[in-house]
Amino acid sequence: QKAEWEKLKEADTVTADGKHFELAANIGTPKDLEGVHNNGAEAIGLYRTEFLYMDSPDFPTEEDQFEAYKAVLEGMGDKPVVVRTMDIGGDKELPYLTLPHEMNPFLGYRALRISLSELGDDMFRTQLRALLRASAFGNLRIMFPMVATLKEFRAAKKMYDEERQKLIDEGVAVSDTIQVGIMIEIPAAAVLADKFAKEVDFFSIGTNDLIQYTMAADRMNERVSYLYQPYNPSILRLIKNVIDSAHAEGKWAGMCGEMAGDQTAVPILMGMGLDEFSMSATSILKTRSLMKRLSTEDMKVLADKALNDCDTMEEVIELVEEAVK
Ligand code: PEP
Ligand code: MG
Repeated sequence: QKAEWEKLKEADTVTADGKHFELAANIGTPKDLEGVHNNGAEAIGLYRTEFLYMDSPDFPTEEDQFEAYKAVLEGMGDKPVVVRTMDIGGDKELPYLTLPHEMNPFLGYRALRISLSELGDDMFRTQLRALLRASAFGNLRIMFPMVATLKEFRAAKKMYDEERQKLIDEGVAVSDTIQVGIMIEIPAAAVLADKFAKEVDFFSIGTNDLIQYTMAADRMNERVSYLYQPYNPSILRLIKNVIDSAHAEGKWAGMCGEMAGDQTAVPILMGMGLDEFSMSATSILKTRSLMKRLSTEDMKVLADKALNDCDTMEEVIELVEEAVK
């Protein structure tokens, strides 16, 4: 099996009936590029930039960040690189930034909520400038985490536009093909995806958080782990709404949560028309191998059944096992 996967490294991800899906990798630092290349990723679908902040004794400077982003963009050539702006707070603490103690950190002051507040303004603008400067060296896509409302997206986009204009006025080279999108990881955004789709360039579904927020079950708490249900029809319907909403506006929809590399979920996601699957690099070749064996037309029928006929997660699992033998 390993040998078969090895042969797929340079191959395109094309299904049995000739449809292409993009298989991308999730990374945390420029050092992860080696694994990205060794596993034949077609893109980077999630660069979690918070490690730049967590591995540093103080706020990373614009220069430090510029170097890291440039290294990743150059390393990927003309392949897309989706960089997520800082997703700190929640469980991700920084030694040099004191955040108030909270009863529910996952429901609190984190990610874009910090970026858009007075405390985070400088940090966020510094990151945007570093990203914009690095954009001249590759195919950059910027993504905001934990967006709940359109007002938040518009505020973040405005800051992005302002920093972009400042750099252009300073004569700095900035790419004019940067896409700006959002993670869909809060149910409110998944439900309102048709509205978001008019204003963003793309969606990337963050199922790790989307599932915990939809099921109201902490993703780290073992006592409620039975509620962590990627194949629950409720989750599948949210995902379907996000994909259809993107497509209705001519935008693309990807997924960068663990579910994107889950071999039971992949057939359903193919059938729902997800465009990009971003996962840990080590899952890429086995997913490419699976996709090559399946036909999208069959998977559409499967997804349709999962969305409409199944009542429970267990029924969905059974359905997939039956269809993908
Ligand atoms: C997610 O929530 O699915 C996601 C990809 O982000 P993180 O796991 O970093 O919260
Ligand atoms: Mg998340």
